[in-house]
Amino acid sequence: MSGYDAIVDRYRGVTGEAPEGLWYAPGRVNLIGEHTDYNDGFVLPFALERKAVVAAGRRVDGRLRLLSLELDEDVDLALSDLAPGQEGWSAYLAGVVWALREAGHDVGGATLVLTSDVPLGAGLSSSAAIECAVVAAYCDLYGLDIAPIDRAKLARVAENAYVGAPTGLLDQAASTLCQAEAGLFLDCRSLETEVVPLPMAEQGYEMLVLDTKTPHSHVDGEYGTRRATCEEAARLLGVPALRDVTDLDAALARLDDETMRRRVRHVVTEDERVLRALEVGRSGDLAGLAPLLTASHASMRDDYEITVPTVDLAVETALSAGALGARMTGGGFGGCIIALTHAGEADGIGRAIARSFAEAGYATPEWFTAVPAQGAGRLA
Ligand code: ADP
Ligand code: MG
Repeated sequence: MSGYDAIVDRYRGVTGEAPEGLWYAPGRVNLIGEHTDYNDGFVLPFALERKAVVAAGRRVDGRLRLLSLELDEDVDLALSDLAPGQEGWSAYLAGVVWALREAGHDVGGATLVLTSDVPLGAGLSSSAAIECAVVAAYCDLYGLDIAPIDRAKLARVAENAYVGAPTGLLDQAASTLCQAEAGLFLDCRSLETEVVPLPMAEQGYEMLVLDTKTPHSHVDGEYGTRRATCEEAARLLGVPALRDVTDLDAALARLDDETMRRRVRHVVTEDERVLRALEVGRSGDLAGLAPLLTASHASMRDDYEITVPTVDLAVETALSAGALGARMTGGGFGGCIIALTHAGEADGIGRAIARSFAEAGYATPEWFTAVPAQGAGRLA
């Protein structure tokens, strides 16, 4: 249990016993496929080595005790009191227990001590990491035989119905189903998945993930208008969702509104880029990813208009400093960028971006080199 002594000690401190085990689930970045999920389209995330870990053990008194090392908070709840709308960080854990019980699983209480090195609120899905780690813990502790995709769906119920955040399945699917050195293709309509090989290290590549530290503003409103425009466009085009647009030029010719045309063009071309990225992964030669990343960024900047100056500067600097391809990742208006680089170059590109941010008077970014990692499981 090396590296996680602090949560084991804390568990012992509150229960007087050793935990029954340690379970984890990772954060994720989206390699490609932005704002395609609610258009019934395609996404392709991969899991990070950064993860949430819980030291866990059952309780027989019908209560749930939840501790977070980072927040230094201790919450004790009766299972019978679990109800959607609970405030604060502990809802991400309690919501999973609630979702399991709502789904008819006969599970009891637990003590769960959480630690996580997934940055909070940076768009790397610290929330799904917590939920999926708790699902993994509960499945083992209570002997539940739940298929991986259904584990992801349960974690999503916790986020949507209990916490109250209306997100798609991308985060929880990635955190649960991803495999090392691979991405996860997800069809957001059928929920079919395919593990896509991404042997970056073997082929001499690295992936930089850089948090621009831009405070998100107006995100919810902008998200809502984008979504409404897409739904309206699908209605005008007579298709269930923009995923069903097969002839982009013909579709654009039928729409009068210039803004709507640009939104449709982003969604349809982004779906195409995800499918091409899937082909690149299947082909085994990752060089083809780079231009797809950069084209995705241009589409988000010019057609979907969800980038901001810090993010654009980060991508431009990455490319001029030698990145092979780069894009904003996540819903937009700040957050992280990713850049595909030659092995050994990601950190230098991060430093180049930090310099350009300093010159522009922007906040100091944070970055790390990402390796596509394994989804949720048991650590010890
Ligand atoms: P993201 O998933 O993009 O990181 P969210 O807003 O969905 O952002 O989730 C962040 C929330 O998850 C935090 O506000 C907090 O409630 C919870 N959280 C994340 N990490 C921890 C942690 N280590 N301890 C307690 N709560 C955490
Ligand atoms: Mg989240």
